[in-house]
Amino acid sequence: MVKKQSLMDVTDVIVIGGGSSGLMAAGTAAQHGAQVLVLEKNAVLGKKLSITGGGRCNITNDKRDFKQFLEHFPQSKKYLYSAFAQYAVDETFNFFEQDMKLPLETQARKRTFPASQRATDVRNTMVNFCKQHNVSFKLSTTVTKLTATDDGWVVKTNNGNFTCHKLIISTGGYAAPETGSTGDGFKWLSDLGHTIAKPSPSIVPLKTNTTWVHSLSGTSWDYLKLRFYADGVKKIQKTGKVLFTHFGISGPLVLNSSYDVSQLLSWGSVECSLDLFPDTPAEILSKRIANLLQKNVKKDFGNTMTEIFPKSIIEVLSELSAIPTDIKSGEITRDQRNTLVALLKDMRFPITGTMGLDRAVIADGGVDLSEINFKTMQSKVNPNLYIIGDLLNINRPSGGFSLQMCWTTGYIAGVHSAM
Ligand SMILES: Cc1cc2nc3c(=O)[nH]c(=O)nc-3n(C[C@H](O)[C@H](O)[C@H](O)COP(=O)(O)OP(=O)(O)OC[C@H]3O[C@@H](n4cnc5c(N)ncnc54)[C@H](O)[C@@H]3O)c2cc1C
Repeated sequence: MVKKQSLMDVTDVIVIGGGSSGLMAAGTAAQHGAQVLVLEKNAVLGKKLSITGGGRCNITNDKRDFKQFLEHFPQSKKYLYSAFAQYAVDETFNFFEQDMKLPLETQARKRTFPASQRATDVRNTMVNFCKQHNVSFKLSTTVTKLTATDDGWVVKTNNGNFTCHKLIISTGGYAAPETGSTGDGFKWLSDLGHTIAKPSPSIVPLKTNTTWVHSLSGTSWDYLKLRFYADGVKKIQKTGKVLFTHFGISGPLVLNSSYDVSQLLSWGSVECSLDLFPDTPAEILSKRIANLLQKNVKKDFGNTMTEIFPKSIIEVLSELSAIPTDIKSGEITRDQRNTLVALLKDMRFPITGTMGLDRAVIADGGVDLSEINFKTMQSKVNPNLYIIGDLLNINRPSGGFSLQMCWTTGYIAGVHSAM
């Protein structure tokens, strides 16, 4: 970028928000020759990035064919195509492993993490990338107002005003507001003429008021079938791992169903059903349990069941089936066994809601995608303005898809803002 003498106090590119997408954009713009300033309201950079993936950071999903990768973005893939054709999973691997010397490791379901399993290593890598290319930072600096000028922007903050030719907004969405993303960008962008779809939690744990579910808090069941019923009709069915919490259920399977469940909840009541033995038909399960009880006739039911279940689940099963844990296994009747089997195949409880934006991993909603040029990440509504990351109205599953979207949109905004 050519700098005019009279505009020496005007920064080439200002990035508002030093999170995942902002750091990628800032480092890339500086790498491509721009003078770059990041304004971040927190005292630290990449606060959300440091807690991603339960502290391990699911950095991407190892689907190298970007068209296959975009199959996970059914509503937005037609927009994202031109961005991902420039920068996708291969480029992310090259960036972290070759350029930044951060080895990656791909685990189940192609989820990729830093080999160190530390999200803070990813945060530090992004900060180092920016530092290597002389990006300047103003921390504890909250942007309050944006004003367009003839050839750029004036950015008002609690630390004074800053001017720039190109402005990248990467202030994130509403999910996990304690990390700094409190939706500030949506307000400015709406005032600047962008259409903003109302954000709602889309990857979020589910709540129930059923006490036996709460009592299982901390227990996880690695392989079960999860079904959701709306007004008694089965609407969603998935198989995988569920984590019980003190408010309801969580884990990847639940998180990835939560968007659809919240849609069902907006229409009426929703019930969840757990099948703890999804691959075993009821008759075979009944025979297995009969054999187990037969082998342990003199043992208490509760003790016999420890061969299959953790103690917390046995207590719940005993309560729901009304079979006391201290009854001898040999005394259990056929009816009681049938009740138990029916329960194991269909443990039901109502879903009363989602955990809301505070506990959400992703909130959908945001800037209307038709208002962005995805070849450059430039706003079609305002000149010299780039919009990236969670600000965009892109619904997607968990599994590294969000951060890849941030690396891609950040990289493209970085390259094009520096031109
Ligand atoms: C608990 C949790 C775990 C997650 N785990 C994963 C995972 O493993 N893999 C994955 O792909 N995705 C994960 N995600 C989603 C992923 O973290 C986000 O999609 C991503 O961080 C969004 O990046 P961003 O740059 O858009 O916004 P953020 O990373 O949210 O950054 C926005 C930044 O802007 C700053 N800011 C906001 N307003 C202002 C203002 N007025 N002035 C100055 N600065 C401001 C904020 O302080 C913040 O630092 C997770 C999310 C959460 C909440």
